[in-house]
Amino acid sequence: MAAKSGDTPAPPACLFCGIVAGSVPSTSVLDTETCYAFRDINPAAPVHVLVVPKEHLDSLEAVGSSQAVLLGDLVDAIRAVAAKEGIAETGYRVTTNVGEDAGQLVKHLHFHVIGGRSLRWPPKGSDAGG
Ligand code: 5GP
Ligand code: ZN
Repeated sequence: MAAKSGDTPAPPACLFCGIVAGSVPSTSVLDTETCYAFRDINPAAPVHVLVVPKEHLDSLEAVGSSQAVLLGDLVDAIRAVAAKEGIAETGYRVTTNVGEDAGQLVKHLHFHVIGGRSLRWPPKGSDAGG
């Protein structure tokens, strides 16, 4: 499956590229020009939304200052999701897993936005969202 934009072609079977393209169903929370947010299929909390760039990037390791605009868009999308889900005031956690030791299962950059309950720190169980 091809990435929507950018120079790096997506791996052929990237799940989140499929979700962005609409070929894999998802429950949309927010859709902007550059970012897409949808409900996690296995929520760790009452609110558990994944925010992804539409462009395929493997993880935070693939992002740098040359993507400053996209990073700003992602932060805006995260905050918009929190407002829309009613957790901006009560608080929420943003997690991105990078690589094997962090347990990154889907190799397309994504931010878990979790909230709607009290979250422990350091995270225990599903408190980190992924
Ligand atoms: P990671 O461990 O890579 O940070 O998190 C991947 C997340 O994607 C997990 O929380 C998992 O529940 C979620 N996920 C995996 N497959 C699907 C899917 O097909 N649809 C949705 N909406 N979420 C998925
Ligand atoms: Zn992808």
